[in-house]
Amino acid sequence: MRINLSILEQWAGATGWGRRRLVPYSHMGGPGMRAEIVCIGTELLLGEIVDTNAAFLARQLAELGIDLYYKSTVGDNLERIVETLERAWQRSDLLLLSGGLGPTQDDLTRFALAQLIGEELTLNEEALAQVEGYFARRQRLMPEINRQQALLPPSARPLPNPRGTAPGIWLEKDGKYIVALPGVPLELKMLMTGEVLPRLRQLLGQDHPGLITRVLKTTGIGESALEERITDLLEVRDGVTIAPYVKHGEIHLRLAVKAATRQEGLARMAPLEAALRERLATYIYGADEERLEDGVGRLLLEQGLTLGLAESCTGGLLGHRITEVPGSSAYFMLGIVAYSNEAKKKLLGVEEETLRCHGAVSPETAEAMAKGLRRRYGVDLGLATTGIAGPGGGTPEKPVGLVYTALAAPGGVQVLCHHFPWDRTENKLATAQAGLTMLWQYLAKQ
Ligand code: ATP
Ligand code: MG
Repeated sequence: MRINLSILEQWAGATGWGRRRLVPYSHMGGPGMRAEIVCIGTELLLGEIVDTNAAFLARQLAELGIDLYYKSTVGDNLERIVETLERAWQRSDLLLLSGGLGPTQDDLTRFALAQLIGEELTLNEEALAQVEGYFARRQRLMPEINRQQALLPPSARPLPNPRGTAPGIWLEKDGKYIVALPGVPLELKMLMTGEVLPRLRQLLGQDHPGLITRVLKTTGIGESALEERITDLLEVRDGVTIAPYVKHGEIHLRLAVKAATRQEGLARMAPLEAALRERLATYIYGADEERLEDGVGRLLLEQGLTLGLAESCTGGLLGHRITEVPGSSAYFMLGIVAYSNEAKKKLLGVEEETLRCHGAVSPETAEAMAKGLRRRYGVDLGLATTGIAGPGGGTPEKPVGLVYTALAAPGGVQVLCHHFPWDRTENKLATAQAGLTMLWQYLAKQ
């Protein structure tokens, strides 16, 4: 591992951390930096909250090309936090801590850190200014207990946290590093991205390779059908690996390569991405952070089409997803949650006879709902859902999980039948996903 000392020194000067000479990572030329994540919080142990911070931190480390060997979780108990940190300190070079930096009695991280490295907590003026600044910006008086958040071991430095009261902590001792971040996910992310990653990149040196990833997202094709189409592309070429995985009813293809910069990594992936896009043309709706509703919105805009929704069993979920996209008002005209038969008749013009002969959950009703949107409200595309979400309401002919989605378009109506095996919430989510997929496939083939 190459360390560029002059850059480290410049950085120390530029960030107001004084002229103190930063000790570079000690394993020069030795094994790579070994990292460990420690999440602190009793609520994590009780299963009351899901630990999303560790997953986020782990992804960041992977991108940097830093090996992560251990993750642990410990409750708000000083003795056990110190014990966990001691073990981590012995076997790892970089410790990333989450949580316990607040001002209350159960926030013990700073006390544990001081005990771990055998230093006394002292008031850090820079940290105090940051905490005071937080309250001043909101024109609020700082409660006395928040002074505690400016207590740091002398060898630690505060990391400014614009979103919360707790500054992060950067600590460097004996060639090892500890970074403590607040537990609130948004604050942790901002501090990690804004303050910690640049410092870690400096420590690793300019040409340290990180893992660059790109995710191509598909919908409307099953895992085996997809693999069949791309079998010959699955082998590693030019160091680029490819792994399909299932997420929320979609198949994602994760491309990864070790490279010094994102630009270089993407360039090395480009031929494979082009080949995949050619093979899976209408199935790939987007990449990386894009959601299916973003892809659908993009095509609706491009094609100048308007959309209306008639939702029965999804109860507004489709409307929610469509309106998650900024600018959706350009194509989304209306959504009707037509839950009762009365509403289906009154608002969508579904015939009494259709409901009586075929039932509310039937291809005929789904079709009539979708058509009603075009006829009554003049939208180009009408998408409808109707189904039996469960747990009750199923019969041998129409079991729980039976769902119809219908799409009325200028060229005609298409109805699809689905059988979902899950509970009520999952069945509703799957129906919304199926509706969006139907819309995507129609638009992608235009
Ligand atoms: P605060 O100043 O809010 O007290 P803190 O640094 O002390 O911040 P914690 O008290 O440990 O952080 O956690 C604050 C909140 O952040 C928790 O109630 C929880 O909602 C969330 N949180 C904490 N740890 C995690 C985690 N590992 N993953 C996801 N969310 C978390
Ligand atoms: Mg707290």
